Amino acid sequence: MGILSSKLAAVKPSQTKAMTALAASLRAEGRSIITLSQGEPDFDTPPNICKAATDAIAAGHTKYTAVAGIAPLREAVADKFRRENGLTFSADQVTVGCGAKQLLFNALVASLDEGSEVVFPTPCWVSYPEMVKLAGGTPIAIETHVADGFILKPEALRAALGPRTKWLMLNSPSNPTGAVYSRADLAALADVLRDFPDVWVLSDDIYEHLVYGEAAFATMAEVAPDLAGRVLTVNGVSKSYAMTGWRVGYAAGPLELVKAMNTVQGQSTSHTCSIAQYAALEALTGDQSFLPDFRTAFRARRDLVVDLLNGIDGLSCRTPDGAFYVFAACDALLGRMAPSGRRIATDMDFAMYLMEEAGVAVVPGSGFLADGFIRISYASSEEDLRHACSAIGAAVAKLA
Ligand code: PLP
Repeated sequence: MGILSSKLAAVKPSQTKAMTALAASLRAEGRSIITLSQGEPDFDTPPNICKAATDAIAAGHTKYTAVAGIAPLREAVADKFRRENGLTFSADQVTVGCGAKQLLFNALVASLDEGSEVVFPTPCWVSYPEMVKLAGGTPIAIETHVADGFILKPEALRAALGPRTKWLMLNSPSNPTGAVYSRADLAALADVLRDFPDVWVLSDDIYEHLVYGEAAFATMAEVAPDLAGRVLTVNGVSKSYAMTGWRVGYAAGPLELVKAMNTVQGQSTSHTCSIAQYAALEALTGDQSFLPDFRTAFRARRDLVVDLLNGIDGLSCRTPDGAFYVFAACDALLGRMAPSGRRIATDMDFAMYLMEEAGVAVVPGSGFLADGFIRISYASSEEDLRHACSAIGAAVAKLA
């Protein structure tokens, strides 16, 4: 009998983190690599937020906090939901954790039994299926299609739901596709969910503020208030406020579930860092004026990358409405031969080829349960994005 749990045998490490780590190790060997594999804004955390953290240290806020997070932060989260999403929660219905990631995990651990099923549209964030497995459940992927803008359609949802389904996990704007669910898209899914009263919705809204052009952000608990008693809304400061390293996420929903999530957290991490909680409090209550600036910069980079990639023969991508990723189809290139004589058979081969030949780190679509794509994060400087796309173009041109 080995030391490792049999549960872990089925769990894959994050491909996003793996590609980023490989890029870092090649860079350490002296190679010049542009990392477009990481889902992280390149902007610095705004200074007022950093100051709130140093102020918190000076004020001695360096001790354990309540498991669910400091009261003013939970109040600020409840206020954010009221102000921006039209959702009403008491502070008790709010819980704060080490990033949206931990809150999703807490919710799954708190709710899944062996054999419980969790459905989610694919392409999906790399962590959904693996978290579900770690929590003892069974992930069920529902394929979505480029032609539908990667939006889950009601008939596909209905076909996937069954007596064991505990959760539908939804992520809009989506990582990796950038798809944004409209109110009508969510209303159509809500109609299906009304026929399945035991299915809950995990709404991962982490990219809420990164929506461009005509698209508008919407979230299930607001679009279908009659379902709010079985919706957990998860969000955080990582992406919107350039605070990925601070590890603060939050969630709000029915009290029974939130309390159970607090039990999970109380027996694992206890809570997220006290200082980071004060920084998050400033993020939510302080100056918001840089948010449109971040959005404007991301939108310009999105347009640049979409244009440059679509100009490369063999790659194609739609213009995503949100987040900071372009999900480009590379299936037309599979089967071609690299100058080394190696055949590019899969999107993973193609991603490795781009790392070696172009010096660009991207993530293969298979990591998001969608073969034949690559995900490019455009949360990098315009200069890096131009260089990267030009190097990708040159590498693709060498494929025979
Ligand atoms: N949800 C999605 C869809 C993500 O892409 C990410 C980060 O990449 C997270 C959640 C995690 O965010 P956090 O940094 O708040 O844990």
